Amino acid sequence: MQPLDVLKQYFGYASFRGKQEAIIEKVLAKKDCIALMPTGAGKSVCYQVPAMILPGLTLVISPLIALMKDQVDALNELGIPAAFLNSSQDISEQRHISDEVSKGRIKLLYVAPERLFGGTYPLLDLLATLNLSLVAVDEAHCVSQWGHDFRPEYLNLGKLRGIFPDTTFLALTATADPQTRADIASGLQLVQPEWFISSFDRPNITYRVGLRSDAFGKLLDFLSVRPRDSGIVYCLSRKSVEETAAKLQANGHEAVPYHAGLPREIRQANQEKFLRDEVRIIVATVAFGMGIDKSNVRFVVHTNMPQNIESYYQETGRAGRDGLPSEALLFYSIGDSITLSRMLETAEDPGYVRHMKAKLETMVRYCQSSECRRKFLLQYFGEAYPGECGNCDRCLQKNDKEDMTIYSQMLLSAVVRLEQKFGLGQVILVLKGSQSAKISGWQKELSVFGIGKDRPAEFWKSLGRQLIAEGYLIQEDPLRPIVKLSQMAWETLKKKDRIFLRMETAEMHPEERES
Ligand code: ADP
Ligand code: ZN
Repeated sequence: MQPLDVLKQYFGYASFRGKQEAIIEKVLAKKDCIALMPTGAGKSVCYQVPAMILPGLTLVISPLIALMKDQVDALNELGIPAAFLNSSQDISEQRHISDEVSKGRIKLLYVAPERLFGGTYPLLDLLATLNLSLVAVDEAHCVSQWGHDFRPEYLNLGKLRGIFPDTTFLALTATADPQTRADIASGLQLVQPEWFISSFDRPNITYRVGLRSDAFGKLLDFLSVRPRDSGIVYCLSRKSVEETAAKLQANGHEAVPYHAGLPREIRQANQEKFLRDEVRIIVATVAFGMGIDKSNVRFVVHTNMPQNIESYYQETGRAGRDGLPSEALLFYSIGDSITLSRMLETAEDPGYVRHMKAKLETMVRYCQSSECRRKFLLQYFGEAYPGECGNCDRCLQKNDKEDMTIYSQMLLSAVVRLEQKFGLGQVILVLKGSQSAKISGWQKELSVFGIGKDRPAEFWKSLGRQLIAEGYLIQEDPLRPIVKLSQMAWETLKKKDRIFLRMETAEMHPEERES
């Protein structure tokens, strides 16, 4: 059977996506491959389709024991003979599956890495007697000792390549920083592997980062304009998961908690409810989400700074797997980095601590950076991004208008108090409470005198220019810079309407200053 026929017949998809076909072709040609694809890109198909074409067994190594059953059940539903072996099964169950495998009745066998070399029933002996066609190492970044997700058992996998010289190896991961790449190739001892690096861009995700002052209020605002959307709210601790879920419920939002401290039944029930769209919001620690396949997650909110860009990108990547517009919203404070840094210091290996602190610093830089978020993220993963994305808070702030109501009201009243007889320069001196000789006595008595002194003169100039450009202020005589209020400005003031303007410099985001 041809790969495309297998894809259609078993999986029901019309065509391959991205690099899937190219990867499958190489795997079938017995070439070792490393596939770096973002979450949701469709890594599983890259070994599941070859498994149905190759003569012998495909072994899938995955650290996610909790998900193996679901994955295998889903494959069985599709008519694919798959099974798993892990510590959740009793001996007789494990023996039965080993039996099925040795009789060649299983095409795909999922195992955790520790099961290969250890346990009561080492699998390696069994595999040695079989025709092992393909080994797929999922979450291959777990082999990287400096990675955010290191699993010591993965280091053993390097031995496999030598034990099975005729088997093809395919390593897959959604983590792609250069260090991890190098570690995967060396750690798994692959033979001149072919690299497949997909773009990590998730163009349908809008990235936004804000300071955490009144984060809960901001979260409520965010949720209130998306009353039907489903999403994940990540919190740092179990306690804050519980509190946030309770507060959301108290504010009329359906939300359930999820963290490792909850009884297993409750945790699973809450996850199920979320996956089945019976509840809109799941409030969770980062324990939630690994391998979760829910395509219509519309938003991922972080109420704290994640430890590193890899975790952040993986977690935000759970949004919008269906390709529809989705949001990634992060609240941080500088205190976060101090807390996280202290947590890191509890680790023993000083090299590891240094390495993880450097990653944390990059995370802080991301939060504080004024450049396009997507550009920053993709550059971090070694991908050049020409231009700016137009779909992150930084880009949108540039293109979009901001609520400048309060400041506009100040400036417009100053114009009125100065009897609409002066230019912008004089108006600004009054707002700033200037002691300049240009300010006469009566002007110092005005209620508006000095009310704008906490903003720089540049800010007021820019605001004045924007008010002119948007037609709130008019300058009738081009030779004399006297400004007057337009009819629209009078109306706006009377009705207390909000004024949105397109501001020019970074100085223009007063709400972004940490209080
Ligand atoms: P990853 O492991 O890369 O995060 P998955 O293998 O879980 O991604 O696939 C993500 C989703 O995309 C799944 O719902 C999968 O069924 C779907 N998918 C994968 N390949 C295709 C394809 N060629 N056409 C349509 N849907 C696909
Ligand atoms: Zn951008």
